[in-house]
Amino acid sequence: MKYDYDFFVVGAGSGGVRASRIAASLGARVGVAEERYLGGTCVNVGCVPKKLFVYGSHFHEDFQDARGFGWTVEGASFDWPTLRDNKTKEIERLNGIYRNMLGNAGVDIVEGHAELTGPNTVKVGDREITAEHILLAPGGWPFVPEFPGSEHVITSNEVFYLEQFPKRALVVGGGYIAVEFAGILSGLGAETVQAYRGELFLRGFDEAVRLTLKEEMLKKGVDLRFNTNVASIDKKDDGSLDVTFEDGSTLNTDVVLYATGRRPKIDNLGLDKAGVEVNAKGAVVVDDHFRTSVPSIYAVGDVIDRVQLTPVALAEGMALAKYLFGNEPLNVDYDHIPSAVFSQPSIATVGLTEEQARERYADIDVYTSRFRHMKHTLSGRDEKTFMKLLVDKATDKVLGCHMVGADAGEIVQGLAVALKAGATKAIFDSTIGIHPTAAEEFVTMRTPD
Ligand code: NDP
Repeated sequence: MKYDYDFFVVGAGSGGVRASRIAASLGARVGVAEERYLGGTCVNVGCVPKKLFVYGSHFHEDFQDARGFGWTVEGASFDWPTLRDNKTKEIERLNGIYRNMLGNAGVDIVEGHAELTGPNTVKVGDREITAEHILLAPGGWPFVPEFPGSEHVITSNEVFYLEQFPKRALVVGGGYIAVEFAGILSGLGAETVQAYRGELFLRGFDEAVRLTLKEEMLKKGVDLRFNTNVASIDKKDDGSLDVTFEDGSTLNTDVVLYATGRRPKIDNLGLDKAGVEVNAKGAVVVDDHFRTSVPSIYAVGDVIDRVQLTPVALAEGMALAKYLFGNEPLNVDYDHIPSAVFSQPSIATVGLTEEQARERYADIDVYTSRFRHMKHTLSGRDEKTFMKLLVDKATDKVLGCHMVGADAGEIVQGLAVALKAGATKAIFDSTIGIHPTAAEEFVTMRTPD
């Protein structure tokens, strides 16, 4: 045979594993190179451990809320090594599942760093591997800007393995990871400050959603500082960190977590040797078929800088494998991608924000609802749930759906199906609610704002 493999995949994360398995199931001879951990960011230092930490940190409030229901919870205390190590055990279990899954599918796992050496060749350690098609799925890596003392900060790679849980923490950034970790650290008991360089965090989300989260996080005691950016950090003899902000204010803290975006992980990937083009952001440039500037080399997932979400990488990897080895037309639909932010309270959203809807449609109706969750009538907690629907007046189509509140992701996933199917507001209205739930509010909003 001309090549060692029909398909050789660089990176066993969400996109790479899915593409490998599907390709192998379609009869291709497949190998996958991984230098770090099976499952990639999502399984190891992303979605999965993050969600486990969110559960862990929420008990803090659950114990408080229990009182109104007659429970006495005395002597509750939190032990970080237990949460950290149980989480790690679970991640190791998942790594094993990934290993078995790839093995059972007949995919060869090649451990080590992979580097392209030509259009059909990859070097892993001393091994030169040839393949008819190569897929780049190396993912992304946390980005930390350079400033005096930037070597003292940690990123989402390290926060999951902290030796000691900090008494005080500073989170820098205003995206998904920053708001999620501000909630986790605060819920687990750290005095938490979140600093964001702009007016209001979660740029790109619906403004009412951003404002609601701000209010709720403030109620929970997270010290939110907007229009604030770090100028420098000094490490003191006692190990604590002296942070100086650009406005001259200072903060002494134990841990500084930078969550200022992720960049495509293309270091030493040999892109130049193979002639693979990257854009100004360092992302691999691909066409409609995930083909790079080198026809035998493809790329999916975070490295192509389209949508940095696991389910999107899965869809891309699957579509590419079916296209290459199953003769299927390549079809990834980027419309109506729902997403959730596991902040506390959580956010979920699908479709357009109000700002986008006003830009694109002549006339829209906005329905909003803000209410106290039934649970908090007895818990006494002053937390509001927020829901919003945006409707095109001309066609009655629901353009966007947003929620801040408990289980937002669980609720909005179903609504994403409705929006993708083109549901109108009339269909929402004719849907019978499930009572008593918070979700039923989405089918009972009758009067536009
Ligand atoms: P995001 O791109 O979401 O946010 C980055 C944040 O850092 C923004 O607030 C940005 O500010 C700020 N920032 C960027 N550069 C600087 C700088 N030089 N100095 C100060 N602040 C800066 O990145 P994240 O790291 O939070 O997450 C990466 C991606 O991972 C997300 O985009 C998301 O797609 C994915 N993810 C998804 C999750 C989910 O689905 N629940 C969870 C976690 C991650 P500004 O807005 O002003 O540019």
